[in-house]
Amino acid sequence: MLFLTLLFSERLFAGNNFIKSKIRQAELRLYFSSKIERVTYFSIPLKDGLTKYVYDIHGATLPSGKGISHHTFRTIKSFRIAQNSPTKLRVVIESKEKALDKHEFKGRMLIIPLISGRYVVGFSDSNSSSSSKKSKTLKDNATSKKYRYRVVIDAGHGGKDVGAICCGDKKEKFVVFSIASKLKKKLEAKGFKVYMTRDDDSFVKLPKRTEFANKKKADIFISIHANAAPNKQMRDIFKGIEVYYLSPAKTQRAKEAAEKENAVMLEGKDFYTKNEYLSLLNREKIVESHKLGLDVSNKMLKNVRSHFGSVVNSGVKPANFWVLVGAQMPAILVETGYITHPKEGENLMNNYYKELLAKGIAEGIERYLSHK
Ligand SMILES: [Zn+2]
Repeated sequence: MLFLTLLFSERLFAGNNFIKSKIRQAELRLYFSSKIERVTYFSIPLKDGLTKYVYDIHGATLPSGKGISHHTFRTIKSFRIAQNSPTKLRVVIESKEKALDKHEFKGRMLIIPLISGRYVVGFSDSNSSSSSKKSKTLKDNATSKKYRYRVVIDAGHGGKDVGAICCGDKKEKFVVFSIASKLKKKLEAKGFKVYMTRDDDSFVKLPKRTEFANKKKADIFISIHANAAPNKQMRDIFKGIEVYYLSPAKTQRAKEAAEKENAVMLEGKDFYTKNEYLSLLNREKIVESHKLGLDVSNKMLKNVRSHFGSVVNSGVKPANFWVLVGAQMPAILVETGYITHPKEGENLMNNYYKELLAKGIAEGIERYLSHK
């Protein structure tokens, strides 16, 4: 009898191994080696507005050396996983988010939402956890649900800060505001919540722009700019669409672009010194911003090339733009082209070209978030 009991508990103990964790669609997803039988849940209010959310996965085991990947998420203070008893694996999440939505489990996956007021994207309805008939894939469901992601669009420059200028009439601050407004409409049509750092031709200091995005708890920060050649002789040479993410600049062109966009910062010395801001860079944010940049760049080029022929791809590059410093979410800066280039400058004054740029940026953001 003792032997049988040992055998039985051994079976339970080794029955369902934790395999890995991922964050997708603002959900923590935990994968196991076999079907999850039961999950119990409770929460405890802590001080400083924090809540501890506890999930016990019955019959599950944590193999040695395994753990929740090194995740960070804006509403979450910490993620932990540990063997609570021989037959119970415990996941603890500490968060400032008041009430996390209901978790779900289906087959070998447990999904825990990281934000309140959102649907669990992985399932088509909340009663499906016991049903194995549903064959819809995660991706199908992800695209059919309304997103409630927040995007902050930053139209570069404004007011006394004109930005790049060409030929008397082409001004960066107007070009980028027009693209930003079109982008706002496109994202809203897709169900996103959108905020703009400026709604008109007003001057907004660079640090205020990311501060605003942090305050709005944005999922994405996107700063829109247009470039200019360094001098008149170079007007025919400099062209192309560039996307930058915040990281120490590696190329000369990235350094120059950053210096130009940063110029307005030199007026005030109330912000970070260069060394201070480098220490703020978070590895994971750099990786995510890079991914976002690639999706946005691909979709923008695809859209404009469909009607305007060859548009140069000048790549997705790291650079040290002040406007991206301090953003707590994936953040990129798009240089939509050179207003100084004869052809590209003309394109940037064309309403349909700007429409396609905005469409591409919106599709890139959507693609990035659907893989997150
Ligand atoms: Zn600019």
